[in-house]
Amino acid sequence: MASSNSNSTPAASKTQGTAFGTAAMTAPNTPTEEIQQIFAAQKRKQLELRRSTARDRIAKLKRLKKAIESTTGELEEAIYKDFRKAPLETDLTETLLVISEIKTAIREIRDWMAPKRVGTPMTLIGSRSEVMYEPKGTVLIIAPWNYPFQLAIAPLVASIAAGNTNVLKPSEYTPHTSAYIRKLVESTFERDECAVVEGDHTVSTELLKHSFDHIFFTGSTPVGKIIMEAAAKTLATVTLELGGKSPVIVDETSDMKLAAKRIMWGKVINGGQTCVAPDYLLVPEGKVDEFVKHAKQAIEKSYDSSENPVASPDLCRIVSKRHYQRLTGLLHEAMEAGAKVEMGGASDAGENYIAPTLLSGVSPDINIMQEEIFGPLLPILTYRKLEEAVDFVNAREKPLALYVFSKKKKNINYVLQNTSSGGAAVNDVLIHLANHNLPFGGANHSGHGSYHGYFGFRALSHERGVLKQSRFFSALDLLYPPYTGFSRKLANLTKKFLT
Ligand code: NAD
Repeated sequence: MASSNSNSTPAASKTQGTAFGTAAMTAPNTPTEEIQQIFAAQKRKQLELRRSTARDRIAKLKRLKKAIESTTGELEEAIYKDFRKAPLETDLTETLLVISEIKTAIREIRDWMAPKRVGTPMTLIGSRSEVMYEPKGTVLIIAPWNYPFQLAIAPLVASIAAGNTNVLKPSEYTPHTSAYIRKLVESTFERDECAVVEGDHTVSTELLKHSFDHIFFTGSTPVGKIIMEAAAKTLATVTLELGGKSPVIVDETSDMKLAAKRIMWGKVINGGQTCVAPDYLLVPEGKVDEFVKHAKQAIEKSYDSSENPVASPDLCRIVSKRHYQRLTGLLHEAMEAGAKVEMGGASDAGENYIAPTLLSGVSPDINIMQEEIFGPLLPILTYRKLEEAVDFVNAREKPLALYVFSKKKKNINYVLQNTSSGGAAVNDVLIHLANHNLPFGGANHSGHGSYHGYFGFRALSHERGVLKQSRFFSALDLLYPPYTGFSRKLANLTKKFLT
């Protein structure tokens, strides 16, 4: 791949003003025969990779890191073309996270791969036991469009560290990034180790017919259910990184200015198209105006205008016409149902642009409060007692993230102890996913399993329990048939004292 400078403005910025993501363009479908060939070649290769050492895997990760670092400009350009995301935002939210995952894996992989010795109960005295980490085998990674690079490559990093072969399918909605990923992977790996298969859901359906050992899926909850159903047919294990409505609870003690600044950053970054973006806000009654005032100031400061920051180069667009229409539909339905637009509300179909928008007086029964918003619209709901806010969250499916803003430890603990979510952050939003020492994943409706750092290595490895028995002595000999009165006594003693 041609090298380029990550600090340069992407060539694509010259196309500013075109309709981003509105073209009928999607990634081309990889032919079925090619998928079959790749799968067969990877099935053969995975037996060899089973024996790969930490050194082999580190070499692969280093190659990948080098290939990414020498083409960050190309990546920024591709993502800019797909939905006009600011290059620096791409660097911060895509490249940085992937590089951090690679560096962590390179540093830690020897420890991760080392068999972990475990204790031996008295009944098995003479033996020794350990957990061995072996590759799952052949892995299918299906990625979404919203962080089209990071959500494809971070699972790939974990899977390479775990010693698997990988078929990666990026989203069809970000065709430029999909093409970049294909080039990146093809220039770095042999096809029987890592291959990119491009295209839409029909390509996913074709892929799912093959008996992969593990499927790592990131995407919506409805499609997650389809993946799990398909996996049931081959009994592939799955990691499901799904979505949901991530609530923010702001209590009466919070610093509203700080809360508004952080919440609006997390809501507007990537055009609100973030799986862990604040989906709705629960604030104490009487605090809406104060929140709105500070939210307007925060948006004004970041994007030059709080009402219609269309000209800001740092505000990315909605990925496609279909997604734009879904979001404006949610907004208009909410307004017709009596919601008040406290900020924003503007949109432009030509550019798939929607202004950061705050809504109050939103009924919990309408669609904006029923489905994941996944765009720059933020409904503000009110509560009287903190218990009410917690009950509201618990009446819905477990979200991918939950946020609580408070100065009071007691309130923070109350919220955390009485709710469940994939992950959580206190007095901030989103950033828990940037700590690779934390597992990142959902809970039930928002996902199964987790990854990042060591958790990714574990998710993509099979933990094999191995017991090595002594050739000279086994306490169990005493319990072999024929069963006698002595055997009974020994069994009773074992239950009482030795287990
Ligand atoms: P999506 O579920 O529509 O698509 C994700 C991937 O699945 C794409 O590659 C797509 O081609 C494929 N796909 C679509 N329909 C399919 C089908 N019927 N059978 C098999 N494969 C199919 O999701 P999206 O719109 O790309 O992404 C947005 C969703 O992803 C949101 O719900 C968001 O919350 C979620 N998400 C979750 C995380 C996370 O880490 N938990 C991260 C990003 C996005």
